Amino acid sequence: MNGETLKIPQATAKRLPLYYRFLKNLHASGKQRVSSAELSEAVKVDSATIRRDFSYFGALGKKGYGYNVNYLLSFFRKTLDQDEVTKVALIGVGNLGTAFLNYNFLKNNNTKIEMAFDVDKNKIGKKISNVPIYALSELEERLSKEEVAVIILTVPASAAQAITDRIKHTGVKGILNFTPARLNVPESIRVHHIDLAVELQSLVYFLKHYPLDDTEN
Ligand code: ATP
Repeated sequence: MNGETLKIPQATAKRLPLYYRFLKNLHASGKQRVSSAELSEAVKVDSATIRRDFSYFGALGKKGYGYNVNYLLSFFRKTLDQDEVTKVALIGVGNLGTAFLNYNFLKNNNTKIEMAFDVDKNKIGKKISNVPIYALSELEERLSKEEVAVIILTVPASAAQAITDRIKHTGVKGILNFTPARLNVPESIRVHHIDLAVELQSLVYFLKHYPLDDTEN
């Protein structure tokens, strides 16, 4: 993200990629403008929030016209640094890690998994979807040399902290942590934690205890 976006509240910034993806689809289908109600329906964010978010982007919708799709797209592209590729490394080529390497976020043209690491001799030296798998012993050297900014952690939880400690002195600024481990990091590193088991459990809990009103169906 560039300096300009620092003024955008974090909650708004988190919704940016969601808006961006939807607007790209709209643009591809030839639409020139979009109303906050249409956006709201598509991205499932209430329209008051959308209007407030968009006012931070300097996009003021006109009544009866909506928002200019091109303007928003160029703003998002600039803000999300779409022109600059962020190098990503994945650590732990197990089942989940392998799935990410195969997926490789190809629809997001600004992020690319450039390399992977593992300790398993049977995996080291191989490639998955053209991404090379290196020995963990080469971690610091390769991350620094290739200027990797983000790592995806898909190792067993017990290995997560030790790896995190090792990347402190590389240029890594962000960790997408798929392990259940809570990581201690220096202030200069941001961690986003995605615990799939917890997310699934929480969804099941909500379905049980807060069922959606289906009387309309
Ligand atoms: P698999 O079926 O390949 O064992 P899994 O996802 O069930 O995958 P995990 O035990 O979660 O297995 O391990 C994920 C991957 O992390 C494995 O490829 C394993 O070799 C690797 N791994 C384990 N410890 C480390 C470590 N300290 N550093 C890097 N990779 C590690």
